[in-house]
Amino acid sequence: MNLESSLSFSNSWKDDFRDALRTQEECESFFETTLPHTPYSLFIPRPFAQKIKESGEGSPLWQQFLPSLQENRHDGLTDPIADQGHAVGGGIIHRYQNRVLFTPTEICPIQCRYCFRKNELHQNLDVFKSNLDHLRGYLLHHPEVEEVILTGGDPLILSNSKVYDLLDAISKIESIKMIRFHTRTPVILPNRINSGLVEVLNHFSRQFLAISLVLHTNHLSEWTPEFLRGLKRLRPLPINLLSQSVLLKGVNDNKEDLKVLFNSLYTRGVRPYYLHHPDPVKGGMHFMLSREEGRKLYLSLKKEVSGVVLPHYIIERPKGAGKTFALIENIH
Ligand code: SF4
Repeated sequence: MNLESSLSFSNSWKDDFRDALRTQEECESFFETTLPHTPYSLFIPRPFAQKIKESGEGSPLWQQFLPSLQENRHDGLTDPIADQGHAVGGGIIHRYQNRVLFTPTEICPIQCRYCFRKNELHQNLDVFKSNLDHLRGYLLHHPEVEEVILTGGDPLILSNSKVYDLLDAISKIESIKMIRFHTRTPVILPNRINSGLVEVLNHFSRQFLAISLVLHTNHLSEWTPEFLRGLKRLRPLPINLLSQSVLLKGVNDNKEDLKVLFNSLYTRGVRPYYLHHPDPVKGGMHFMLSREEGRKLYLSLKKEVSGVVLPHYIIERPKGAGKTFALIENIH
């Protein structure tokens, strides 16, 4: 794996976030090309944009983060996993009995063109939408909930003090035993894994029975030396390091790329957890592949990677019925 690059992340991930490319004009000038107009916003931190530029047009990085004319297609669903049908207000989504999703922010470290929430997230500058009082009240009335899954947006786009406040508030609810972060920030803004965050995670690992950090990465070409340094800092912590990836047509829908990705995660202490079949989201239908194609690929992968390295291949059932294993024949 060649991770050499001429990227220059600043020491402050917040500076890289603030200085991101945000407009069509900025992106066209940076990438020295004309980009298609789409209704979806643009947001790419410059060091990561440099990596995309070096990878070139048509590369897995370019496909994931730069706009395509295909985003103007009218097919697909605005809320493909029917989150809103399970939303109970204050950023809480309660779909499964023993766990809730909490979205403390709408902000992401980058705009992924395939995102299943792409019609809902607007990189709204109202960063701290968290409604901790509401969350506390909800959890107190629902003692059957044992796990809070922090998602967004991206919970690690919050400052260390906000992450601390969030975990502190949740740790006071006796019924909550587990915390899970779903995050893409360590890949896109790798200096986010700073000593302050490591301290916060270490501190709260004693307040909960388990903390899991689920890192979202789809292709090895996303990785940087800074990301690997971040993994080294996280690895000694008493938390679970897991990964989730989305199977995307034209990005990672081949056995070799997935094999290298999952083996590289596992050998660095990150257990591959989920491989998601793509969701039929409006504006992202060009990333879809058929379930038959996905199944064939997964089964051929299964022959070549060890069982402890292979993630679950999962798919969202229609109408918000939740996740199931994508190898199951009939999905209702
Ligand atoms: S970071 Fe996650 S939530 Fe944000 S745009 Fe990417 S896939 Fe969507």
